Order: sequence, then C-alpha cells, then structure tokens
Amino acid sequence: MAVDSSLSSPMAPPANKKFAKAFEFIEEMTKNADKVQQNVLAEILLQNSDTEYLKRFNLGGATDRDTFKSRVPVVTYEDLQPEIQRIANGDRSKIFCSHPISEFLTSSGTSAGERKLMPTIRQEMDRRQLLYSLLIPVMNLYVPGLDKGKGLYFLFIKAESKTPGGLVARPVLTSYYKSDHFKNRPYDPYNVYTSPDEAILCPDSFQSMYTQMLCGLLMREEVLRVGAVFASGLLWAIRFLQLNWKQLAHDISTGSLNPKITDTSIQQRISKILSPNPVLAEFITKECEGENWEKIIPRIWPNTKYLDVIVTGAMAQYIPLLDFYSGGLPQACTMYASSECYFGLNLKPMTKPSEVSYAIMPNMGYFEFIPHDPANPVRLSRDSPPRLVDLADVEVGKEYELVVTTYSGLCRYRVGDILRVTEFHNSAPQFKFIRRKNVLLSIDADKTNESELQKAVENASVLLRDFDTTVVEYSSYADTKTIPGHYVIYWELLVKDKANAPSDDVLRKCCLVMEESMNSVYRQCRVADNSIGPLEIRVVRNGTFEELMDYAISRGASINQYKAPRCVSFTPIVELLDARVVSAHFSPGAPKWTPERRV
Ligand code: AMP
Repeated sequence: MAVDSSLSSPMAPPANKKFAKAFEFIEEMTKNADKVQQNVLAEILLQNSDTEYLKRFNLGGATDRDTFKSRVPVVTYEDLQPEIQRIANGDRSKIFCSHPISEFLTSSGTSAGERKLMPTIRQEMDRRQLLYSLLIPVMNLYVPGLDKGKGLYFLFIKAESKTPGGLVARPVLTSYYKSDHFKNRPYDPYNVYTSPDEAILCPDSFQSMYTQMLCGLLMREEVLRVGAVFASGLLWAIRFLQLNWKQLAHDISTGSLNPKITDTSIQQRISKILSPNPVLAEFITKECEGENWEKIIPRIWPNTKYLDVIVTGAMAQYIPLLDFYSGGLPQACTMYASSECYFGLNLKPMTKPSEVSYAIMPNMGYFEFIPHDPANPVRLSRDSPPRLVDLADVEVGKEYELVVTTYSGLCRYRVGDILRVTEFHNSAPQFKFIRRKNVLLSIDADKTNESELQKAVENASVLLRDFDTTVVEYSSYADTKTIPGHYVIYWELLVKDKANAPSDDVLRKCCLVMEESMNSVYRQCRVADNSIGPLEIRVVRNGTFEELMDYAISRGASINQYKAPRCVSFTPIVELLDARVVSAHFSPGAPKWTPERRV
C-alpha cells in the first residue's frame, strides 16, 4: 500500500481495503500534481471546446496550458454576470459548459447584495463525493475506532428558490443533502449519524435542530464526535440546548414528542426511538439547570474524541468559546471547499487550528495562483491575460489568491480567497487559509464588505437629518461573545442641537435601516437561520476616534496615511471604544428577507 509516512501517525492501525484505496488515490494525486493538473485542464478544455465562452478566445481546439493562459482572461463574478443571467433566464445553449446546467449553487459571497449564482453540472456531485470519501480514512489514522460509535452532526438544509428560467438555486450543502448520493448512501459504520435524515431534510430550522438535539441526547453515550459545518453552527446548537433543555428533558422523561414538532416524517421516525427514560431526563436536567456550562460537551457526550468544525478563516473567532464548552477537545478542520469547486482536505486533521493547512487536490479542478503581495500588486488586464503560477510551482511561505477553472465551465475565476503555502505533501502544496478578500464583518455565513457597511451607515444616517445630527466617524466589530453573535457599529455623532438629539427610538430605527441595507446572506442569517442577533449601535463620546488615531500613531502608524479602521478586532482597541460608549441601541425587529432574489 502506497501510504507515505508523513500521512501516517504513530497510532495508525492497519487500514481496511477501502482506506487503502483512498490513500493510494491521495498519493497518486499528490505525487503527480502537475501532470494531473495538465490532464484536468485538457479534459475541461476538450469537454467545453464547443461552448460560446471558450469559442470566444479562439483556442482552436488547443488544450495545453500555454495557449489557455495566453488567451483566456482572468475574471470575477461580475465579468460573467450577463451570461449567468442568461442561464438563469432559461437559455439552455452551451454557454460555459457542454453539459446541461443542473442547478445553481448559491454562494455565501454576494454580488450587488444577492448571493452569487454558480452554475453546476450533475457530474460535479461525484467529484465532491470523492473528496468526502477521503476524510474518514485520513481521520482514522489519528482517531481510530470511529466505526464503534456515531457522529452528532448538526446539519441543515436552507431555503431554495427557482430562477426565472426554472433552475433551482440553493446552497451546495442543501443540494448535497437532498441528493441521492446522500439520501441513498450505503451503510458505512464509520459514517453513522445520530441525526435522522428526516431531521436534516426538514426545512423548518427549529424542528430540524430540536430533533437533531433530541437524538443526540438519546444516543449520548454512542457519540464519538460532535460537529457542524462551521463553528458558528455548533455554538448555535449549544445555545439551542440552553434555551430548550427543559422541553427536551420532558420529552425524554415522558417518551412523548414536543407538539411543536409537526413534521410527520420526523414524528414517525422519532416514535420508533423515543420511549420514557426518566434517568436520562434527570441527568440532562442536572447538567443543564445550573449556570455552569463549561465543558458541557464532554459532560453530556462523554466519549467525544474531537469536534468536527471549520475554525479556520473568519471562524477562528469562535475557538475560545468552543474551548470553553468542550474543555479543550481537539477541533478538526477537515475540508476546504466552496460553491465554485471543492478544493481539498486537511491531511493532518488533528493539528491545532492556527496551524491547519489544506492540500488542494489536483483532480478537483485546474488551479492557478495570483501572487499576493499588497506592496506589489499584480495588474490583471483582460486584453493580455497574465501568466499565473501553477499549483505545483507555488513557493512555501508566499501568499496567493486562488483562481479556478472548473468542469462546470468557470474559466480562470477569482475565488477571492488568500492562501499561504505552508509545505508540500509529495509534489502538492498545502495551504493555510489566510482570509477572504474584502470581508470586514462575518458572524456565520455572512460576509459584509467595506462598501456594504458604508452604504448601510449612509442609509441609516438619513434618519438623523431631522435632528441636525451627522455620523462623523464609525467603525464596527463582530461581537461573538453573545450567541448568536451580532454586528456592533460604533458611531461618533455630531449633534448640533443638544435639545433635539436623536432619541433611543430613532437610533434603534437606524439599526434596522442598517440591517435592511445588508446583503441577502446577512438578512437570511438574521431571519431564517437566527444565526445572527440584532445589530447594535454603540454611540461613543466625542473625540473617541481622535484618541483611536493617537493610539494607532503611538504604535507606529503613519499620520499622513492614517484612516479610521472600519472594523476592529484587536482587543485594546475594542476596549478603548467600549470604554467611551455613552449609549447602546439594538435593532427593534428583523429586516425583510425572502428566498426570492431582489435583483
Ligand atoms: P461558499 O461559496 O458559500 O460555499 O463559501 C466558500 C468560501 O468559504 C470559501 O471560498 C472560503 O472563503 C470559505 N471557506 C470554505 N472552507 C473553508 C475553510 N476550511 N477554512 C476557511 N474558510 C473556508
């Protein structure tokens, strides 16, 4: 078996046949990264040679890297939007891809306030499935015996909509959970979940979460790993338990299901596993009734070996809270993926979050890299396409922006992620996720950029005109100390007439106007997922932002170039701002949101 020693751990047991195949595959892909990339590009170009998009660049049937790189431009979503709109409106001609577009995947990245629509094809599901199939073999090297118990995973489907031309538009995981790949998956002792499919597939988030938590409690001793896709999801589950443990304990004690669970398929499924268990109900009551929620995860699920959640990137802000609730259980980040393309996996999933790297698998798409050096930005011109760096040629220690070419027809598409090369596994590089470009605030799946925040502040300040008041400076902070987390906007106000200053009521309305101005992912998190709490304005006393500038300059910032930070996270700065707060105001209601797109 071709398992490279760097993929093994001291505790590695003899792998079974399926695992051996997975390692062989990883080794084959990573040893031949450049060759695989060359073949993937050729395959994509051959498959899509008769598409409107590729024909535009006169490749003349060429499938080699040189021709591709010299003729095809590097693009953003906005460049492709006219074609994407045509597909959404029902144009079934071969625009990007020679295979039929099966649906749109809606990214959490937005354009003009709405989720980006990523056209995808049926075959991509197999490629994603292949990547999923590698996760357990790798994890088994570090945590053997996962076939002896279950995974408590909080998994949800999200709202979907139809485009004017009739294609379904939904997030990639919703598409996966609703697929036959997931629903008809063969039994695999390593992948047994406590959550029944009926609960995962229930569109009502309360009923879904309630049932998943109930099943997790009923099977508490069998649970070996606890997870959600992102850290925010797992914390939301803990909050849910804090709010609902009494009813859950009642159900367990009496063997009767909460009447709020009206989904008949869930009712049928639960009737088979729920029977009165006063001992368990008493245990849950004892653990949850006090104020002490520290280590609640291992207290309730004592056999948990690790948390399976993404805590890299924006989610790193949740690590301390997860440590608190889990008593420092390992946090495994297993995968790096997006709606555009699933990229790769973490070959050492037990590494601590700050050191996690992902190996981009060369079979998933064709990958290029724009060197990312803010002091020396690369200029990209559509007329003379740049020669970007190939996957096998990136250099350790350097940062790059990721560009993908996919089987679904995206060509040289800028994903917006900045990655740093940490090391190589065979000839394939591994990357630390550094950040997503242009994201200022993020609590859950939401990503708010500087111009969106600026627009929100502008819209809200209109309400201050009647009070002869202006916002002279502002900044923001993603407050994740509350569950769910919420946006805090610091405002320094110039109130011309103290006798006519804006009231709490007006400032609360300003909060709501800001929420209404946010992109659809933010509003969906607020309204449908309840994963973001009401936005808060903290008014700071006059002169605060000047103090902030003095502080920055004392730490070496240039006076000439100083700009007030539009988002703060550095603790001393947050503390400085908080110490000068004169009043705080919360949004009085939820903003408007429907699954239908506004544009
Ligand atoms: P979406 O298009 O909504 O599926 O979001 C995909 C984006 O989520 C990626 O481009 C990254 O910015 C982020 N993301 C996905 N996986 C990870 C990860 N393991 N660590 C950090 N960020 C991630």
